[in-house]
Amino acid sequence: MTTFGMVIDVSRCTGCYNCFLACRDEHAGNDHRPVTAPQPDSGHRWIDVQEHERGKFPRVRVDYVPLPCQQCQEAPCLSRAPQGALYRRADGIVVIDPEKAKGHPEIVLSCPYRAIYWNPVENVAQKCTFCAHLLDNGAKETRCVEACPTEALVFGDLDDPASKIAQLVKRAEELHPEFGVKPSVHYFGLPKRFVSGELAFADRMDEAAANVRVSLHNDAKVQEATTDAYGDFAFEGLEAGASYVLRVAVSGYRPHEVAVGTRNDVDLGTIVLERA
Ligand code: SF4
Ligand code: SF4
Repeated sequence: MTTFGMVIDVSRCTGCYNCFLACRDEHAGNDHRPVTAPQPDSGHRWIDVQEHERGKFPRVRVDYVPLPCQQCQEAPCLSRAPQGALYRRADGIVVIDPEKAKGHPEIVLSCPYRAIYWNPVENVAQKCTFCAHLLDNGAKETRCVEACPTEALVFGDLDDPASKIAQLVKRAEELHPEFGVKPSVHYFGLPKRFVSGELAFADRMDEAAANVRVSLHNDAKVQEATTDAYGDFAFEGLEAGASYVLRVAVSGYRPHEVAVGTRNDVDLGTIVLERA
């Protein structure tokens, strides 16, 4: 058995769009029936590099989350399509039949990841095919994976225990597990929440409060960070919707404590420590 899948490491993605361009090069104007009709000249993002900007100036994070069709094993697009218009191949790739699916724009709305696009030229819904036409001719990976300069994309057979992807996927996570669709695409480094700020000493405002330990507490654990040369600190990778207490205790200064919720990313600004 073979089940093709992909692992995407968001922390490696620089947002260069090489994957998107490789996909355009492979599919725009090129007919790969029976897998897919040509991609149109504009409007389609079969691998959509989504930019996530978090926080606020000056402590901002930008992440790029590449999003192809997730080749779901329990794909809602399959169950809602007209008979035979979509099917799942033996290797796990979900295909929109370029002939049988003609004239059914409602297929676009059946994907919870919004990974399906309407092609008005061909009158058909389309999406990433994992370059099935290339795999069928002996290719080992998709064009986007081949084009990625940072190896943020890994492709392979999830059913082969010796494959790199089979090892990686054990530690990776799903994008939107709440959809419950068993995707064959998994992720590392998906953006989570952060809490950041800057420390300053009231009696020494002209110098940075460097190398000061800051701790973040909740019922589960205590995390620690140390301010950098500019007095900045950050706690990364926090779960959304959690509650914490941030504590700063420096000898000779009054202890500082503040409650923090991670419904959004939090920048506490400058915390000024007063002399005890
Ligand atoms: S990501 Fe969307 S289009 Fe792709 S298999 Fe899943 S439901 Fe279907
Ligand atoms: S080619 Fe790689 S690094 Fe560039 S946008 Fe795509 S996934 Fe990110």
